[in-house]
Amino acid sequence: MTDCLFCKMVSGEIKPDVVFEDDRLLAFRDIHPQAPLHVLIVPKLHIANLNELDDADLGGRLLQTAAGLAEQFGYAESGYRTVFNCNNDGGQTVHHLHLHLLAGRRMVWPPG
Ligand code: AMP
Ligand code: ZN
Repeated sequence: MTDCLFCKMVSGEIKPDVVFEDDRLLAFRDIHPQAPLHVLIVPKLHIANLNELDDADLGGRLLQTAAGLAEQFGYAESGYRTVFNCNNDGGQTVHHLHLHLLAGRRMVWPPG
């Protein structure tokens, strides 16, 4: 999608700080980190949000990549949080599916 920020990152038009890439996913550091580690994992295919995800393999790969990155950055044991924000009440601002991975501080519950 031409006017989508994360599609521009996938195409290389905008260059994020990439921490992982494979054939279906791109992961990069959030520009406004909410924790010492804050990574966004996005499918290369434009999918607007979790309501539009109908590919179980892709969903599984998003989650497994988050766990793999948490391990790689040394947070598997101390812990971390993964979040999909969906639409307005979920706090979604970029309408291209992305999984937040946050780690390196104690998270609070309930989330804001
Ligand atoms: P959400 O609110 O769940 O849609 O999350 C969108 C995230 O994208 C926010 O955490 C933003 O800080 C992040 N973001 C926005 N623009 C950029 C950018 N140019 N590079 C990296 N992350 C970005
Ligand atoms: Zn997109």
